[in-house]
Amino acid sequence: MIVVPRPPAADPLEAFTEDEVGACVAFAKPRQRWGLAAYAADLALLAALALTGPGRAVVRSAAGLAGSWAPGRVVLATVAVLAVRAAAGLPFSVRAFRQDARAGLATQGLDGFLRDWAKGRAVGLVLTVLPVGALVLGARWRPPGWPLVAAAAAVLLVLALAVAGPVLIEPLFNRFRPLGPGPLRARLLALAATMAVPVGDVLVADASRRTTRVNAYVSGLGRTRRVVVYDTLLAAAGPESDGGADEVALVVAHELAHVRHRDVLWGTIGAAALAAVSVLAAVALFELGPVRRTLAVAGLGDPLAAPGLLLLAALGSLAVSPLASAISRWAEARADWVSLEVTRDPATAVAVERRLALENRADLRPNRLLLALFASHPSTMARIAQAWLWAERH
Ligand SMILES: [Zn+2]
Repeated sequence: MIVVPRPPAADPLEAFTEDEVGACVAFAKPRQRWGLAAYAADLALLAALALTGPGRAVVRSAAGLAGSWAPGRVVLATVAVLAVRAAAGLPFSVRAFRQDARAGLATQGLDGFLRDWAKGRAVGLVLTVLPVGALVLGARWRPPGWPLVAAAAAVLLVLALAVAGPVLIEPLFNRFRPLGPGPLRARLLALAATMAVPVGDVLVADASRRTTRVNAYVSGLGRTRRVVVYDTLLAAAGPESDGGADEVALVVAHELAHVRHRDVLWGTIGAAALAAVSVLAAVALFELGPVRRTLAVAGLGDPLAAPGLLLLAALGSLAVSPLASAISRWAEARADWVSLEVTRDPATAVAVERRLALENRADLRPNRLLLALFASHPSTMARIAQAWLWAERH
């Protein structure tokens, strides 16, 4: 177990000019406010569909198209809720796209953006209708072993998505190619060998077809495990001779640290456990008279249970978000520290953080409460302070 030092965030003016801080904050703050507004609107809409007469009437009339056939009613009720939420969320998404376009971050037109948005909603539709439909129909038919069998099915779904997501879902949005042969590829594979991380390949995603933002990530389990680098990062880091290779190596060292410490596996196990607990909690909650009366449903097996179920899921995920994001920030800080220990190059770590913040217009003066509640990564200035601390100790 390594002790991960997490010094407090430094003042952004110690690493950025006043103009850089101003430009980033001027972009990030309105975006954050609109993001929160979209989130609040979505929750309010879900509450209206689940808790009010007019909201329920919308869901009931959509479900009515299937007559009295229960599976059809369940699917249509779920689709209706998702369609209303998507329609209400679209203006917020278009606003975010337009802000990107104005700032020169978008590389596609509105039509391309809308195609991606529709694809994303379609994937979300399938991944919501399947579990909600299975849960509601299962509660009607109560197979032997219910509800444990439903909890087990939820675990299997999460595991299947973690394994198959990189090969089934990610290619819907991006094309991936192996990083071409050359000194950079050799260096990254040598880095993986030094870190004793079994990685067959480093993939490059064609993120540049939609954005100039830079990023990298790891996903998948077992044979689908991969380290993915955005092509925008390779381009932004510049020629290999110019320090560009150092920056890419540092980013990849961070991702390999996630692999070495099995962060994707543990994240998947956590998500699977949470899915099982959520299913059992939903079954128990719908047994309660006051819950059924508030949601105006006969029980979890009611074909119109979807809005109430999705409202509870949204409130549940809001409730676990502070803990989940705190764990994520800790794993990210550990990956940062390991990447410093491996590369022993804090100057490049600071350069990478500067590049990430400037290219992505990061919020360099984040609100502490929002950071604690939702942020998956430590703030830019916390990450830079950590790199400085490493330098100080060596
Ligand atoms: Zn990370």
